[in-house]
Amino acid sequence: MKPRTKRLARTDKDFVWHPFTPMKDWLADEPVVIEAGEGFTLIDTEGRRYIDGVSSLWCNVHGHRVAAIDRAIHEQLDRIAHSTLLGLAQSRSAELAERLVRIAPRGLAKVFYSDSGATAVEIALKMAYQFWHNQGRDRSEFIALSDSYHGDTIGSVSLGGMPLFHSIFGPLLFKTHFVPGPHPYRFEGTTDECLRFSLERMEAVLKTRAERIAAVVVEPLVQGAGGMLVHPAGFLKAVRKLTRRYDVLLIVDEVATGFGRTGRMFACEHEGVCPDLMCLAKGLTGGYLPLAATLTTQEVFDAFLGEAHEHKTFYHGHTYTGNALGCAAALASLDLFDSTSLIASLGPKIERIAQALRRLSKLEYVGDVRQCGLMAGVEIVRDKTTREGFPYERRLGTRVCEAMRPKGVMLRPLSDVIVLMPPIAIDLPTLDRLLAIVEETLAKDLPRLAREA
Ligand SMILES: *Cc1c(COP(=O)(O)O)cnc(C)c1O
Repeated sequence: MKPRTKRLARTDKDFVWHPFTPMKDWLADEPVVIEAGEGFTLIDTEGRRYIDGVSSLWCNVHGHRVAAIDRAIHEQLDRIAHSTLLGLAQSRSAELAERLVRIAPRGLAKVFYSDSGATAVEIALKMAYQFWHNQGRDRSEFIALSDSYHGDTIGSVSLGGMPLFHSIFGPLLFKTHFVPGPHPYRFEGTTDECLRFSLERMEAVLKTRAERIAAVVVEPLVQGAGGMLVHPAGFLKAVRKLTRRYDVLLIVDEVATGFGRTGRMFACEHEGVCPDLMCLAKGLTGGYLPLAATLTTQEVFDAFLGEAHEHKTFYHGHTYTGNALGCAAALASLDLFDSTSLIASLGPKIERIAQALRRLSKLEYVGDVRQCGLMAGVEIVRDKTTREGFPYERRLGTRVCEAMRPKGVMLRPLSDVIVLMPPIAIDLPTLDRLLAIVEETLAKDLPRLAREA
């Protein structure tokens, strides 16, 4: 190890507390220190190169050091890096808002900026609550799916259904009605029955509580952090129908699925769904800068109009809301979607991943493979027949991903689900190399790791 790497690793361990990381293990291990990127590759301080197989935690779109985005940020720096949206307009944030409304599902008309996926969801749920409040209705409850993930602020955690992350904070959370998400692999019955079961449970809550429910919140098509859980076709559309029938708002959390990830610009497009509120973050700036947006319909927006004495204003904002550098990066990213016909080019990549998953599904210890566009998960189990998993302490998913590092691939699993989320602009040769290394590791290293005590 180079002295410089050693020094940086030491400095990290001395001063940084890492997110979602068991720090005791971290302090005992040697971290990889990333210091550069190039296209779809990460480069560490030792000069080792890794394919960025999870898009730097699901946000990178066009690769790293993309000339057009770099240039857009430089040009914006020559004007201004940031000025507030509280009481002032700003050129880039205005342009981006128009652009987002133009590409968003029909009906979404207004853009409220913030900085992360969690804040985008936090804003959506506060807007939903106040939407009803401003009309003299008291609706403080929400419906969400089990195993859902909407971010880590207290409001977003209240809507999240992942016990491992969320149960500790139980006493701090508001009440949410959790309905089982439709996950055929863990359901005793057919896919159709699975779908119907979830919808019936949702309708049962709506039937008795609709008057108290502000909104239903869902990750459309795929529950990402819950384990790449892909919903059966038709679920989202059916949820939209239910929310209309019972007159509650629908919040769609497209933080992970937005910006081409599922093969369309937004996951909602697959089922022709127009939500009342939509949350965007991760891919918004191409994975460059922290920027998020909550989009709403004109109807939601109009409920916040009133005379000063009526107090209908949405009192929420963040210092960096609508940051100009972030908006410039986002505009450049959207330009790239157009100039490279990115969405139209995804078909062959999605097919390559599908082919690899079909081969992987035959391997020992591979229980299930799931895919939606360029979002995929490979679930490792101890017993393919009973679907029984490995004990959590084995950290098998982590160990499998670590085995890929010396081969030049960087992945991060979700428990024992190996996640494949390459930048959607990845070229076919790099994608093939990534898939080959994943296949080789699951065929050769997984059985060895699974049998070790
Ligand atoms: C990542 C994610 C979030 C949280 O986004 P942050 O930017 O990490 O706060 C919210 N919802 C979904 C669906 C996500 O995948």
